Amino acid sequence: MFGINQGAVFADIRIRHAKEISELSLDGYAIGGLAVGETHEEMYAILDETVPYLPEEKPTYLMGVGTPVNIIEAVDRGVDLFDCVYPSRNGRHGHAYTAYGRMNLLNKRYEKDSRPLEEGCGCPACRRYSRAYIHHLFKAKEMLGMRLLVLHNLYFYNHLMQEIRDAIEAGQFSTWKRNKILALSGNLVYSKRDE
Ligand SMILES: [Zn+2]
Repeated sequence: MFGINQGAVFADIRIRHAKEISELSLDGYAIGGLAVGETHEEMYAILDETVPYLPEEKPTYLMGVGTPVNIIEAVDRGVDLFDCVYPSRNGRHGHAYTAYGRMNLLNKRYEKDSRPLEEGCGCPACRRYSRAYIHHLFKAKEMLGMRLLVLHNLYFYNHLMQEIRDAIEAGQFSTWKRNKILALSGNLVYSKRDE
């Protein structure tokens, strides 16, 4: 049973509530009511204010978050657990997450692209299928296209969490974070030109 911190973007309410639920000996603590329309900066500010008042030895769970960058920023502020529809919903809409941003497989540029979604990815989609084939599946409205992108995106997110754990254990999270966010936010290869 987790205690769920509430208080919208009001730090005083968040902190008071965090203190109250921390007195109950619960299995973990969640931060709810964020990622509901406030800016990312507001969300990070509330995490900065609130997480220090939750028990450090218990898991901290940020509900409904988020993009890869949101997750990295939240981990930096002490969050351990996440849940989010992005990998599956964006996959169903033709979007694949990669280390260099998102790509839109509906784009015509992938029509004859024989490469996997992401070079070196070990997911079932990348091991067996090309961008061109997945593009074709989406154009043909074949269910398999959605399934392959969801598989890839879930693999991407799981791999991201593994990378985060490895970086923390190696004592190199700050450096890893800086490089990772630069790459993810650059969208140099795919996303900006696709959308
Ligand atoms: Zn993949």
